Amino acid sequence: MNIILLGPPGAGKGTQAARLIERHGMRQLSTGDMLRAAVAAQTPVGLEAKAVMERGELVSDAIVSALIGDELTAMGPDVGAIFDGYPRTAAQAEALDAILAQHGRALDHVIELEVDEDALVERITGRFTCATCGKGYHDTFERPLAEGTCDRCGSHSFKRRPDDNEDTVRTRMAEYRAKTAPILPGYDARGIVSRIDGMAPIDAVTDAIERVLAGA
Ligand code: AMP
Repeated sequence: MNIILLGPPGAGKGTQAARLIERHGMRQLSTGDMLRAAVAAQTPVGLEAKAVMERGELVSDAIVSALIGDELTAMGPDVGAIFDGYPRTAAQAEALDAILAQHGRALDHVIELEVDEDALVERITGRFTCATCGKGYHDTFERPLAEGTCDRCGSHSFKRRPDDNEDTVRTRMAEYRAKTAPILPGYDARGIVSRIDGMAPIDAVTDAIERVLAGA
């Protein structure tokens, strides 16, 4: 199974991908995560991408498509792929079709998480993660049970993404509207898009995705 999770920043793509991994042993291919790892490791790709990401703009199609191709090559053919944050442009959507074909894979579902943009700014600017295990939290919606201690691993170290500030979030949303939303009609024409209310509680969104995957 190969699926794309599509939606503006903060729609919950990463949260839902994490749940699908747990339940189905699928693999998440997040170009944002790959780029953040490249920035942290100061690779040539990371050095090129850092400033672009801090502005909330899009990294070049060639770079992200190469990252996806490499990752798929490294994966076993039987592992399902969840594309999270990719494709984000028409050129990336085309590249993905070619990459999938090379690997004998085909797209099963494009799941669009529909969300209210104003609510997203609060969602994104309040989010932070455990620096040790990566568990996600939120200033308003999900604080650690014991202040300053990760519920899952007990770490006292937390981090925030540098691009999760309001100005950058607005740019990221504008990029989504201008460059990513227009790829949906192409997938619609193939009859593989399902739209889910991304403002619903996290469990309800997961249930709705499961129904799509089960073909219900
Ligand atoms: P994300 O974690 O998906 O929100 O991505 C964080 C940032 O990484 C984005 O704002 C872009 O600067 C960059 N990025 C991630 N995925 C892509 C992509 N598919 N195409 C271009 N830039 C990307």
